[in-house]
Amino acid sequence: MEGIKHKMKVHFISLGCKTNQYESNAMEQSFIKKSYEIVDEKEKADIYVINTCSVTNIAERKSRQFLRRAKAINPDAIVIASGCYVQVAKEEISKIKEVDLVLGINEKNKIVEIVEDYLKNSHISKNQDINKKDKDEKIDKNKNTNINTNAIVTDVMHKDEYEEFGIITYTEVTRAVIKIQDGCDRFCTYCIIPYARGKVRSRQPENIISEIKEIAKKGIQEVVLTGIHIASYGKDFSEDDTKKYRKLYGYNDTYEKFDPKEDLKTGGFRLIELLEQINKIDEIKRIRLGSIEPKLITEEFVNRLSKLKKICHHFHLSLQSGCNETLKRMNRRYTVEEFENICKILRKAYQDVILTTDIIVGFPNETNEEFERTYNFLKRIKFYKMHIFKYSPKRGTVAEKMDNQIDGNIKEMRSQKLIELSNENQKEYNQSYIGKVVSVLFEEKDSDGYYKGHTDNYLLVKIKSEKCLENIICNVKIIKSDGLELIGEINNN
Ligand code: SF4
Repeated sequence: MEGIKHKMKVHFISLGCKTNQYESNAMEQSFIKKSYEIVDEKEKADIYVINTCSVTNIAERKSRQFLRRAKAINPDAIVIASGCYVQVAKEEISKIKEVDLVLGINEKNKIVEIVEDYLKNSHISKNQDINKKDKDEKIDKNKNTNINTNAIVTDVMHKDEYEEFGIITYTEVTRAVIKIQDGCDRFCTYCIIPYARGKVRSRQPENIISEIKEIAKKGIQEVVLTGIHIASYGKDFSEDDTKKYRKLYGYNDTYEKFDPKEDLKTGGFRLIELLEQINKIDEIKRIRLGSIEPKLITEEFVNRLSKLKKICHHFHLSLQSGCNETLKRMNRRYTVEEFENICKILRKAYQDVILTTDIIVGFPNETNEEFERTYNFLKRIKFYKMHIFKYSPKRGTVAEKMDNQIDGNIKEMRSQKLIELSNENQKEYNQSYIGKVVSVLFEEKDSDGYYKGHTDNYLLVKIKSEKCLENIICNVKIIKSDGLELIGEINNN
């Protein structure tokens, strides 16, 4: 077995969010450490890991397709399913005949061990769920016994503490995604993620800081802080831990205690304290925040944030709807008036701030009038870019059972209308940049010979250059806007 092991090739497919991407990266590293070879899709692999996503029905469908396709590419390969879809529908996944192993969320950092056990133990039948709770429970697909395929797997699979992957070796050269927490306690009525990921578990700050210091040594200049609900970072730290971290990072030991129900209030050791510490790491030039809960943004938070020079002036605030009644049905805990104020706070603090958002259209009971209110609100707020999702019911959520599900054609029309608005906004913003000089971190050269990179406020800029610009920050003068992209030239002045 040892001899075979060292020749084994592993291919990863990661669907969904940046947190999944981080975890796939971490699992890849555990294989590399044990001398497995990570290969891309062009090569036939011996092990396929599909890190699934469950955020939409489309993501689930894609996950199933990838699982099946992997076995079609190599019928002898071990096909492993992990990720959020597994968490919410493990029986359903277990019944896909192409799947060999179903990996629970707590098992991701033990993936190599589990694969090696699987290889060694011929008594483990295919499609057996290997989560420890059910380790000896064989799932007999042929008899199709008493498995409830709609079962939601909740806390049984989650630990109380953050599952640490250790320091990951990054293959990226410019930007690295760093996971700072897992889980979410918000329970928006349309969302399955709290069931899939469990309650908020924050990563210890020392581990985050050491990982970022390590990657900084490798020349990576930008970190993107990610998680399932990063605004909740630190809310789960015990009083003793909070005191310990405050002492360790030089904060005084008196701090405002907060009611756990008000989980976004600052105090203790929360996101802002973590950002203040990351900001001190010399080699890191940019700190980008992943999607954030709007209510995190208060005058107090932004006051401290705006003192941190490395924070990117781009905030992705998930709004979801511009109508208070719809927001209430979604269990989003803010009003449009509060949201508008949050945008004002950010726009006042950062002149060049870019705001982007996610919107769901066709949420149950969304009348024409409600949608018009959303449309008018979005026109007023003028996001740079909006990601538009047509609502689709997720099994096991509150919204799935709501009356007045909206017709698909109506959802499509609403979605088109908002996509057009988003594109208009983006073009208009881009036009306003012509002639301006911006600082761009270049990432890669595309097939047309352009170097592409992002400004700190996340505008995509491309330029032609003879010189290699990969992982270099340059001042670029924008010369034209090509639809949704900006084209520039090096500014030597
Ligand atoms: S905040 Fe809402 S939408 Fe986001 S992960 Fe939590 S429950 Fe889902």
